[in-house]
Amino acid sequence: MTTIADNLTQVQQQMLAACNSAKRPISDIELLAVSKTKPIDSLQLAYDAGQRHFGENYVQEMVDKVEQLKHLTDITWHFIGPLQSNKTRQIANNVDWVHSVDRIKVAKRLNEQRSNNITPLNVCLQVNISAEASKSGVSVEEIDELAEFISNCENLSLRGLMAIPAKGSAEQVKKSFENMQSLYQALQQKYSTVDTLSMGMSGDMNIAIECGSTMIRVGTAIFGKRE
Ligand SMILES: *Cc1c(COP(=O)(O)O)cnc(C)c1O
Repeated sequence: MTTIADNLTQVQQQMLAACNSAKRPISDIELLAVSKTKPIDSLQLAYDAGQRHFGENYVQEMVDKVEQLKHLTDITWHFIGPLQSNKTRQIANNVDWVHSVDRIKVAKRLNEQRSNNITPLNVCLQVNISAEASKSGVSVEEIDELAEFISNCENLSLRGLMAIPAKGSAEQVKKSFENMQSLYQALQQKYSTVDTLSMGMSGDMNIAIECGSTMIRVGTAIFGKRE
């Protein structure tokens, strides 16, 4: 049986190979371990193997895990799941990053609820890059307005963009990631705080790295299949 530590080593090796072929330094890319639905022991094993960035999708599960691991003070917590405006209060002061902001209403509430006496909440806009009717994410046309709003929120820091492309061929996924890269570069021109392009998961991290991702969100390849 492979262990979580072995899986992490494998993912890091895969990242390194992808970086080499893209001629990028591996230090450009942060590995986010996506631990949704996995027990706290699995997070502890990843932590013991050196992993420090963790991503969760469900508000209550995230709050519970943050509480259970609060003694591990050097974990950086990322909320990456769909966020309804009536749930923002539970995460505004419990996490370091939110990758899934896609509405002004959600940004406004996070800004109001984040304490003034801690560092601003790092925020990525989730972009519905494949324009799927059923999916969350801001449309490409709405990015500017939402980014401008967030940049004026004193308790939020606009860090970049996140996307989950529609399932498709490698070429289709690559096209989506390339579109994200251009949108990201345009945003960087406007805001000096923007330094994060959150894209790439277990199945498409190599393509994402090739297309300029700076943060990959990897679940299955580290923790195994989810139920
Ligand atoms: C579940 C999830 C991931 C991880 O997906 P894997 O395919 O298991 O690596 C990454 N990003 C988001 C937003 C997710 O919901």
